[in-house]
Amino acid sequence: MSLIVQKFGGTSVGSVERIKNVARRVAKWRAAGHDIVVVPSAMAGETNRLIALAKEIQAQPDPRELDVVASTGEQVTIALLSMALLELGVRARSYSGWQVKILTDSAFTKARITSIDDKAIRGDLKAGTVVIVAGFQGVDAKGNITTLGRGGSDTSAVALAAALKADECHIFTDVDGVYTTDPRIVPDAKRLRTVTFEEMLEMAGAGSKVLQIRSVEFAGKYKVPTRVLSSLTDPMMPVAEEAKAGTLITFEEDPHMAMEKAVISGVAFNRDEAKITVHDVPDRPGIAYAILGPIADANIDVDVIVQNVGHDGMTDMTFTVHRNDYAKAVKILKGQVQSHIKCRDITGDDKIAKVSIVGMGMRSHAGIAAQMFRTLSEEGINIQMISTSEIKITVVIEEKYTELAVRVLHKAFELDQV
Ligand code: ADP
Ligand code: ASP
Ligand code: MG
Repeated sequence: MSLIVQKFGGTSVGSVERIKNVARRVAKWRAAGHDIVVVPSAMAGETNRLIALAKEIQAQPDPRELDVVASTGEQVTIALLSMALLELGVRARSYSGWQVKILTDSAFTKARITSIDDKAIRGDLKAGTVVIVAGFQGVDAKGNITTLGRGGSDTSAVALAAALKADECHIFTDVDGVYTTDPRIVPDAKRLRTVTFEEMLEMAGAGSKVLQIRSVEFAGKYKVPTRVLSSLTDPMMPVAEEAKAGTLITFEEDPHMAMEKAVISGVAFNRDEAKITVHDVPDRPGIAYAILGPIADANIDVDVIVQNVGHDGMTDMTFTVHRNDYAKAVKILKGQVQSHIKCRDITGDDKIAKVSIVGMGMRSHAGIAAQMFRTLSEEGINIQMISTSEIKITVVIEEKYTELAVRVLHKAFELDQV
C-alpha cells in the first residue's frame, strides 16, 4: 500500500462529467489499496474569469482581495469532487488551503509555501478517507488567503507529497506526459518516458507550462517521485498500466537511457516576458545592485540579464521581467532609481519571447549553441539577448517569431525522431 498524491488540472475537472471521471479514477486507485490525497485545480477557464471580474472593478486589483477572489475556483471543485466520490460510495472529505493549513508567506498572487500541517490529513487517511485539498491556495501567518501563482496547483500537490512523504505524486493533465516541446505548437513533438529533474527544472523555468517551476523545485528538494499523466484516458485503465504511463521525473540519469537520448531533450518558450533597458549608467561597482535591488524589493523576479561592455565610463543594462510586472518595474526605475543613478534613459519592449533548448547532453557536446544560432539565422530571426546554463541556452527574440523558432529548433535537433 502506498500513499499517493494525485493532482488534476483545470481541463481534467472542466465539467461535471470530467469530475465524475476523476472520481472514478481516484476510486480505482483507492480500491487498489492506496491512501489517496487529491489536489484539484479550478475548472478550466475559471481562474481567468475570476481575475477578469476583479479587473473590471480595479484595473490593478488589490492583491489581497484578488487572492480571495482567485482562490474560490478551487473551493468549488474540491467539494464537487468529494460529492462525486461519495456518490461512488468512497469516503471523501474536502479541505481548503487554510483548513489544512497550508502556510505561506504573504506575497499575494505568488506566495511561497513555508509549511504544511499534516495532522488532519493523516487522521482522515488512517480512517480510509480520500482527502481532497484545494490546489493553488494557502494562508499566511496572519490568516490572509494567498495564492501560489498561476499553475500553482502543481506546487500544492508536490508540496503535499513532500510533507506527507508520499510514495508518488501524479500530475494528471490534458497531455499524456512531458513532450519534447509543447505539442500544441509542434504536432510532431514526442513524449519523453523520463526526464531528469534538472532538465524539467530548466524546461519549466524556460516556460513549459506543463509543470509550474516551483513544483519541480519541491520535487527536487524533497526527492518526490513525480509522474505526469493524462486524465483523458479511460479512467478504468488498469492501475498497473497507469502506474507506468506518462513521464517520470528522475533524479539520476539512467546511463542506458542517456546513451540513446538526443543531446537536446526539449525546446521551451515563454511569451510572458518583457525586456527593459537602462541606458548610459555609470560603469562602477554597485550599479547592478542600484538598479535591480529596488526591483527585487518590489518582489519582481528578473530573468535574463545582460550588461554591455562599458564605453567612456558608461554602460547599458538590459534584463527581462514577467510581462505582468513590466509597468511596475518601469515605474520603479523611472522614479527612485533614475534620479539616484542618473542614467540617460529607460526603454522597454513587451513584444518579446524567450526560446530555450534544454538537455543534459549539452554538457558533453560542443557546438550546440552555434547550431542553435545558425538555425535561427537561417530563418532571419534576430537574437536580442542570450543566456546560458550548463544544460540550457536561452535566446530572447521578437515575439512574432516564437512559433517559427520553436519549430525550426525542434527539427534542427531532430527531436521529432526521438
Ligand atoms: P493543467 O490545467 O492540467 O495544469 P496546463 O495547461 O497547465 O494543464 O499544462 C498542460 C499543457 O502544457 C499542455 O496542454 C501543453 O499545451 C502545455 N505544454 C507546454 N510545454 C509542454 C511540454 N513540453 N510537454 C507537454 N505539455 C506542454
Ligand atoms: N487554477 C489556478 C490557475 O489557473 C491554478 C492551477 O490551475 O494550477 O492558475
Ligand atoms: Mg497547470
